[in-house]
Amino acid sequence: MRIINKLLVCYIILMSPINGYAQDDTVSVSDVDFIHYHAELEPNFKEKSLKGTVKVKFVPRTQKLRNLTFSAKYKQIKSVYIDGKVAQYLLSDEQLTVNFQQELEINRNYSLKVEYSATPKRGMKFYDDHIFTVYHTKNWLVSHNNISDKSTFDLVLTHDANMTTVGNGRLVSRKVLENNKVISHWQQDMSMPLYTFGFAIGKLETLTIKTNSADIVVLYRAEHSSGLTPKLIKEAFADVADMLSFYESKAGFSLNQNSYNYVVVDGYMAQEASGFSLVGEKFVHTVLEDENENWFIAHELAHEWWGNSVTCANFSHFWLNEGLVQFLVAVYKQHLFGEQAYKNELNVAVRRVERAVKENRVAPVAFHDEIEEQEINRTMAYSKGALVFYMLREKLGDEFFWKALKQYTQTYKNKSVTTQNLKFTIEQISGTDLTHFFDKWVYGQEIPNLNL
Ligand SMILES: [Zn+2]
Repeated sequence: MRIINKLLVCYIILMSPINGYAQDDTVSVSDVDFIHYHAELEPNFKEKSLKGTVKVKFVPRTQKLRNLTFSAKYKQIKSVYIDGKVAQYLLSDEQLTVNFQQELEINRNYSLKVEYSATPKRGMKFYDDHIFTVYHTKNWLVSHNNISDKSTFDLVLTHDANMTTVGNGRLVSRKVLENNKVISHWQQDMSMPLYTFGFAIGKLETLTIKTNSADIVVLYRAEHSSGLTPKLIKEAFADVADMLSFYESKAGFSLNQNSYNYVVVDGYMAQEASGFSLVGEKFVHTVLEDENENWFIAHELAHEWWGNSVTCANFSHFWLNEGLVQFLVAVYKQHLFGEQAYKNELNVAVRRVERAVKENRVAPVAFHDEIEEQEINRTMAYSKGALVFYMLREKLGDEFFWKALKQYTQTYKNKSVTTQNLKFTIEQISGTDLTHFFDKWVYGQEIPNLNL
């Protein structure tokens, strides 16, 4: 994450009403607000590449902005325009730096257009009959890389007429061209973190599961490639309607779109985007053999609220995306299968943490200071993070815990959060001072000794 002219400011200055002390989490704020992306792309299955244009609307939030940097990894840049005029740019260290002839005006809308092609070695998977994006969007899209700067997204894909597409938001048009090609236009109206931008294209069957809220649409390869039939898909996703209403009740608000798509792709995959996720055929077969293995369906759906809507402000608070979702998968299993399933799921986390301790891979779950993505200790963020939520639930009791989680989710809907936001909300709801708890278990490295 390299945003030039970074300003370090205090994101929150929280005075806890209970202890009177503030302990701030620090978040660097970009000098630019990225508002909207409009990409027009045509992937090439055989060459494992794509080409097209991206237009980025942005607003400078500081004076004297003279340049902007975007990811150019795996890309060839053809041309760059700012407000319709040719712009100067430099390519170095896999980054595109656009230089402006004069300082940009603060709080004015600008439009940057980049023509490019890409051969993404990461961030996209290519097969003969389907392709899809995976983490991270910057590998196939010229884009910024600030996790807390959310944008809306229009994606216009040109593809073969016998293929189906899935993108973020909703499909607003599908135009058939004369050359056996189709242009599919997807639109995401709600601002989302950039890493949730993605798409899938393939020869896919669809199965729609009606729920009281959004429709769940499962897209999958035909039986001869995937071994999956409509009957098997129905069986594998049997609990998804219940899952959706369960998470909606915990979050306190429903999905903000009419349908949610699961794209079942080759291999082992579990990757959320916004409005859809990519799940692997291998995992689908696993759940058909053992219904307890439905974690990937639950995990990616839960990210719609925790991760996509309520997003960690930087990687120091990544556990608010992943630890919480791991915990909520365990809670969903408790709801569906009973107490033992809850404990079993949490025990997986206990064992992962134990292994990390043995291998000397211990770190805090969250940090007051900002860390880079590569500094994340995933076992701490995912597994110890889940256990911290378990401990909070035990400490507060169900009434306060769920009330606080709902309050937190509703308060920070479509926003970015730090650990202090969570702590503050729980303290407000429960009237319990959690400074010691958070210092010990979250900002500290102490490992809980849990007998589940
Ligand atoms: Zn996740």
